[in-house]
Order: sequence, then structure tokens, then C-alpha cells
Amino acid sequence: MQQRVLIVEDEREIARLVELHLRDIDCAVTLAHDGDAGLRLAEGGDFDLIVLDLALPGVDGLEICRRVRAHSSYTPILMLTARSSEIDRVLGLESGADDYLTKPFSVRELVARVKAIFRRVEALQREPEKSDEEEIHSGGLAICPLTRKVHLSGQPIRLTAKEFDLLVQFARNPERVYTRSDLLDLVWGYGHNGYEHTVNSHINRLRSKIETDPAAPRFIQTVWGVGYRFAKAGAEAQAL
Ligand code: CA
Repeated sequence: MQQRVLIVEDEREIARLVELHLRDIDCAVTLAHDGDAGLRLAEGGDFDLIVLDLALPGVDGLEICRRVRAHSSYTPILMLTARSSEIDRVLGLESGADDYLTKPFSVRELVARVKAIFRRVEALQREPEKSDEEEIHSGGLAICPLTRKVHLSGQPIRLTAKEFDLLVQFARNPERVYTRSDLLDLVWGYGHNGYEHTVNSHINRLRSKIETDPAAPRFIQTVWGVGYRFAKAGAEAQAL
């Protein structure tokens, strides 16, 4: 089936180049050249992927990302940024982008990233393995991997895609100690070496949503000098 892709990019040559190469891999492409048109299309359309430039005339890429994420349906977002100094904001707590490329990027790399995103989505939609079907329950936390919904003491908790993936990684493996670099590999995948502090930001944000007292976390605990672990249900919080 054709994948529907929205490209929001004001530099027309880049937009055109991306469009051509995505058509080559059989995507149906819609183009927007400014933030307002991009936001309107992103909110109104049913896309399998949004390729989103960060700096746009009108509404900027981060704001579009945030607004798309505020909707319940999950659309993967690949961000394009002109400066590597923006990467933390892109990957970071505000936006919830799935991946990024820094300009100038190679078209081959772009196509590889897009294919990787489609593969991840397809894997999620495929007949789930038993372990994927099972809700995870721990100390008042209920996590449903199939619907990507989380409840804490019966109350729904809204998490970004990465926060959810992090939580599932932890909750499936209670007591396992993860280093930041383990988590980057497992949750972010390739190519994010050197962004260990991004993990800290996500953990802090996740804690602020699921912990009663984020300073004395009950679920995601700090293992000093090493990383983090998810406490086994019923285990007492470690003194910090
Ligand atoms: Ca731009």
C-alpha cells in the first residue's frame, strides 16, 4: 500500500528533492511550503509520515510537531534541522519527533531513515507477539503496548512516543539497570551517540507524569554513577 507523506519545507529545492526520492519508493507525497499550510494539512490529513523542517515561515516545525502530538492518533515525524545545535530541542521533551536529519543530508540517508520509520510502524501493526499483547501492571501503573495507553491508578496519562517507549522498555524489565547509552540504543536506535543528556530530559519528563514525588521516584529510580532501573512492583523506593 502507498504510504502517504506530508513534506513541510520552505526551501523548494529541498522539498522537491525529498519529494522525488519518496515518490521513487512509492510514497504519495503532499507538499507544504510554509508553517501555516503545513499545520493545516498535518492536523487535517491522514498521513503515514510527516517530514518537517524546523525553521519555517509562519508556524515553526516544533510547534507543528507539538500540535500533531496533541492529537490522539500517532503519526511519525522526521525533523529536518539546519543546525546540529537544534538537535536536542528536536529530540527533546518539547517536540516528540521520531527522528531527525541535519542539513545538509544525503538523500540516501533520508530514504534509509524513512524506510526505517515505516518498518517500525509496520512491526507495531503486525500480528503482535504474545509479549506485545500483554498489558503490563506494576504498582498502580497499567501500560497497554497495543493501544499505547497508560493509566496510573485508573487515570489516563498522556505520554509522548519516546516517553512511552522508554516506559515500556523499563516496565518489561524490572530491576534491570540501564545506562543512558543502553537506552539511547534501545529506544532511539541508531545514530544518537553523544546525546545521553537527552535521555535525562526524557526520564525527568516521564517522572513528572508518573511519579507522585519525582524527587523520590517510586518507578524509575536512579542508579548513581550508572543509569536507571524500574523498581519491581511493591519494592520500596530507594532513599536518595
Ligand atoms: Ca527552512
